Formats: sequence, structure tokens, C-alpha cells
Amino acid sequence: VHLQRLYVEIPPGQSPSVRDFTGQGGTIRQWTLLPSSPSSSALLRYAALACTGSFHVNELCRRLGAKGKVPSLFGQLEFTLVRDTPQEGCPSKPVRLAAGWRIAPPDSVRPIQPKEARDASPVERLGKPPRGAQNVGWLVLGYGSDFGAHSAEESFHFEDPHHRLKRLASLVAPGADVTNPVAYLKRLHWKGVRYLKPRSRQFIEKLNRSLSGWLEVEPDAWLDKRFDFSTVWETLPPWRQKLGMLVLDAARHLFDAAVKLSNPFEQSGVLLLDGPQHWCAPDCLPGFFRLLNGLFPRFQFLVTLPDLKLLPAELVTHGLAVSESCARTKPRRARLPRGTALLIDVDSSLPNLALMKLSRHLREQGKRVVLARRTARLAGASEVYASCVFAFPNSARRVAELRKFYGADLQIGGSGVDVRRRLPREIEALPPDYTLYPEMGDRALGFLTRGCPLHCPFCIVPVKEGKPRLVSDFESLLQGRRKLILLDDNILSHASALPLMEEMLRRELAVNFNQTLDLRLLTPAAASLLRQIRCSNVSFTRRNYYFSLNNNRNLPLVGQRYALLQATGRDNVEFVCLYGFDTTLAQDVERFRFLRSLPGAYVFVQRYRPVLGGPEAALSGFFGPDAEEQINALLAINFTQNMKSMEVYYRWLCLLYAAQCGRIHRRLVETLFRYNGRHRMGGFLAKLESHATAQNRSLDADPNQSLLHW
Ligand code: SF4
Repeated sequence: VHLQRLYVEIPPGQSPSVRDFTGQGGTIRQWTLLPSSPSSSALLRYAALACTGSFHVNELCRRLGAKGKVPSLFGQLEFTLVRDTPQEGCPSKPVRLAAGWRIAPPDSVRPIQPKEARDASPVERLGKPPRGAQNVGWLVLGYGSDFGAHSAEESFHFEDPHHRLKRLASLVAPGADVTNPVAYLKRLHWKGVRYLKPRSRQFIEKLNRSLSGWLEVEPDAWLDKRFDFSTVWETLPPWRQKLGMLVLDAARHLFDAAVKLSNPFEQSGVLLLDGPQHWCAPDCLPGFFRLLNGLFPRFQFLVTLPDLKLLPAELVTHGLAVSESCARTKPRRARLPRGTALLIDVDSSLPNLALMKLSRHLREQGKRVVLARRTARLAGASEVYASCVFAFPNSARRVAELRKFYGADLQIGGSGVDVRRRLPREIEALPPDYTLYPEMGDRALGFLTRGCPLHCPFCIVPVKEGKPRLVSDFESLLQGRRKLILLDDNILSHASALPLMEEMLRRELAVNFNQTLDLRLLTPAAASLLRQIRCSNVSFTRRNYYFSLNNNRNLPLVGQRYALLQATGRDNVEFVCLYGFDTTLAQDVERFRFLRSLPGAYVFVQRYRPVLGGPEAALSGFFGPDAEEQINALLAINFTQNMKSMEVYYRWLCLLYAAQCGRIHRRLVETLFRYNGRHRMGGFLAKLESHATAQNRSLDADPNQSLLHW
């Protein structure tokens, strides 16, 4: 983002200050120098407010007010921002965005309405300010005349939802800490030089080349594996240290804000610099400006200086091009050829077997068949069939949209809308049409048996399928293929389980037991066959066994049956673990600890979501009196793979703990964000705090209610 125009009427009634940063030929002036004065410094801070989205603006205002860094915070601010459309996405959105803040003491800020606008010649009509809650994009950095290096190794703890305001810390509070340069360089060096992570490597290379003259090192010295940053840094004079601190802090913000950009230096943004002459000698300032210009070529710089001639002549006329937005082309509504049957897969995670059978049936009648997904709106179909597998809110919304569009023409089935509705018997008996889903490749998919003799209360199978029975044979299922994704509900419970497994072995099939196997039913003979069959993951790229363990009942039996498999630490044995139904935290911990003790086992957690007409979760007694210790025990359980799945459980647990116990388990939150999405931790903590506060306010509240909107 760049700043094109700024209108400041603070306090109200005072003659407004208007700055237009438009350069030659409609570009944005890259460098704007303002004469050193309190009003120029205040203008930089107003520019910071203009470039801050609605999520942070109140907090920034509060901090500015508390530090007295602007003469008064009461009045009106209007501004026009320019998006760098190709880089900030949404190429068809308007490039210019005009908005304003009405600021009233002590710290209340609200967007102004178009009719309240005071700027006599705005670039654009006023609209809604952006929210700016994301860490990425919307990059505004600010440095005051006085700042120091953070003493700790890591100055970003991300516990504050407004941690993004650290980008402006020293502009708001004199003496504020910026990134510890030595610690940061060591970390970057570790990743880029020792572990050769390409993005970090390129980044440190560029920093080294650009800063070598200023920090008195060779242009490739930092690429030496043994380079000692601490010793070299200590020998630098203070002003060089300050310069290094500022540039490295800015570079770090660029790097962290562009997680997906291969060259973070290409980002656009605004850099506000208040009085650099306080720490940099005037004769070095032109060189410093050239350094900033070279490193951050798409940044707009606003600087306060006592002598405006210090800006090198070649930078005075530099302009940043404004990229125009592409016109949005209205997509033409697709129309299917006459007589086409349309099949819609609403929400399947695997190719939909019912639709494949339906497709076979329709094609045998000589009809043309087209597959569409989710809420596809295609006119002209002679027949429309949709399948919805899940009873989740998203699926229900999609079904409602389809019903609205296709009306009475739509025929819909699947467990997500009706657990009892089946395909007609003659269609059910047909082999699937694998050409409907080209992504199937050389894999086959389907059931040999359906049904289960057990009655787990959370499961749809007893209601939908009943007792186990044989429903297909290898020939019609495989159609010449050697990789089989098997959807059987509980194949080990069927009387023909062993002959079926022997047949898999004889045919040398690779089998993905997609719906997991019931370990309690594993016999020595079945275990021996299972070891010989090529059990695989769903993409058939590695050997994988799948079992489920939905509660902690009969763990000794499970342990005995697992021993039959003779798995070692080199095997991959995934246990799908249901949570959030009727187990307690202590039981979950016991179950995870038990699985951790099995060689080769790891977990894939799956949250309970009621099927149509299914029972609600019973969670009121989930936390016992020793909840804190149980969570600590949980955190001590580390699986050798798929810990990302455990993060899903941690997240759910954090929210439930706050909602039911009215407290935040900090260690659990810290573990959840240790490796992934760290910059989102502050926002998550704020959410937990609101859950905990709500619980503390109303101890009688039904905790299950608060689960509904997670
Ligand atoms: S969860 Fe498994 S064992 Fe239980 S009823 Fe469903 S299919 Fe059968």
C-alpha cells in the first residue's frame, strides 16, 4: 500500500493540513522530506494512523495519546491509499481507497461517512476503511529518533493481538525496542546458511551485500558457517549499530509479512522516519537514503529532516508506478448441451461412489454426463442429481443454494440429507464409472462388504447399513486395477473377512483400508494376512495401516491385538481417534498415552459432529478437578509423526477450557502455536479471553452452547 493524500484537521476547527504525495505522471512520490518540526513529526504519526486498518486503529490512537506523541487526538483524518494490486491480490478491486477516521477523546475512533468528508478535493469518494487485521500485507513501518535493540533473543512473542503495531513502536514511544539484530541474524544464518532454506539464504545474501560497507564486513562474510555475529557487532561504532538495527528490523518485518513471497524485498509499503539525523551524521545520510532505496525499491518514504537538501538529487523525482486494476469480467453463465445429465458432488472428500454408479447407469442409457462440485450453477441440464455426504452447516448451506437454483429439477441424496434414501437396487448393483473422476487415476474405490454388528452411539453405520453383508466382488470393483480404496465399514466383522483378505493377497493388491479396521476383531490369521497385504495410504505412496480407537475402553485387549501385528517403530500405523463426544479429558489423555506406547502408532484426531438425528455431545463433565495436570500430561505426549493433527485437538481444548473453566491454559496455547501460525497467537488469546470472561460472568451458562459457533 502507498499513501496518496492526507487531510488532517486535528483539533477540529484548526486550519487543516493537506498533503498530496502524487508525483509526476500520476505516480506516487517515493521520497517526501518534511522540515524537522513538531508538526512534521505529528504528521508522520497521522500518516501511521491513516495506514492502520480498523482492527488496530483504536489501539494505536490509545498508545499515541498515552505517549503524548501528537499535540491532540481529537478531530478528523481523511486519506487516500493506493493498493499495489498485482501484489496485494484482488486485481479487479479499485486501486485507490479513500477513507477517514473521526477521532474523539479519549481513544474512540470511528470511520467517517461520505457526507462528513471535509477534504475539498479528494482523489476518491470516501468508503469503508480496511480492517487490516492480517499480519501480511498492509505494510507500514515507522522509526522515531530514539530506539534500541531488544535485549531478549526473540522480541516477537505474539501474545498481543496488536503485535503488528511493533512495526511502529519507536515512532510511538521513544526508546522503544526493535528486533535484536544479532539474534535475528543468527537465526537467519541458521536457516539460510546451515540448513540452506532457499528463501532465508537469498535473504541473508542480499542483506550481506547491501550492508557490507555499512557494517564493515565482506559482501559474502555472513555466508561463512562459522561467522561470529556477536563479536563483529560489538566492534561497530554506535551510529553504525543504529543503522544496522533499523535496516535489519525493517527487513525482518518484510520477511515475516511475506511468508509466500520468494523475494520479500519486492513488497510495497510505507516507511516513516522521524529525525534520522539524531543518530546518523549528516554526511552519511544521503548514502543511507540510497541504501534504503536500493533495498526497499517499492517503499514510499516519509522523512523529517532539518536540511531537505540531504536527499540525493537522483531520488527527488523517483516515482512509484500506480498499477491500474483490471476490469472485472462478468463470467458468462455456462449452459450445458441439450440432453445432458448433471451430477453434483456437494462435499465429498473422496470421489463419490453413488455418483459414479449413477453415471454408469446414465451413460448406459446413452446420456451425456457432466460432473460439477459444490454449488455449481449450470443451466440446460435435462436431469440434475446431487449427493451430500456430511450433515455439516457448510453442506446444508450448499444444499439450500442448489435447491434455490435448480428447484424441483434437483434430486438429492446422501447421508447429509437423508440417511435412509438409497440408490435404486439395479443402479446400486452397477460397477462404478471411474472416468467420472479423472483424479482416480489407476485406483479403484468401493465396498466389498457393508454394515457392522456393533452399535456405537455416534456412528451412522448401524442405522444406515445394518448387519454386515457382502455387496460386491473384486471383478466389478477393480475393473482391472491393482490399487483399491476400500470403504468397508467393518470388514473384520464379516464372516468372509479372511477369504477376502486372502484374495487381496493372491491378486497382489495394494489396499487402502480407508474407513479403518477394528483392531479388537483382529485374529492371528487376519494379522498375518494384513502384514502380507500391501496396506497403503490413500495416494498409495507409502505403506500405512489404519485403525480407530474412539474411547479408552478395553485398552489391554487393544494392546494384545496390536501385538499380533508385530509392528515396529519403522511402521506407519494411524489410529483415528474420535474426540468431543462422551470421553473426558483424563480418558483422552490415557488413550493418547497408550497409543504413544505402541511402536509405529500415531494419531489422527477427528472431532465428533452429530450425523442427522445423532446424539449431541456430552461434554459437561469433560474437565475433572485435575484438568490442569491432565493438560500438562497431554503436552508431554509427543508422537513421532502427524503432530499437526494433535494441534487440532489442542485448539479445541483451549477453547473448551476457557469456555468451561473460565481460564486460559497458557502452556497449551504456547504449544499450539510453537511451530505454526505464530503470528495468530495474539488474536487467539483475545478470543480465549472473551470466552473465559463470558464464562466467569455467567457460571450457569451451558458450556455446550458456546461450542456451537466454533
Ligand atoms: S464405529 Fe465402527 S464399530 Fe462402531 S458401529 Fe460404526 S462401524 Fe461399527
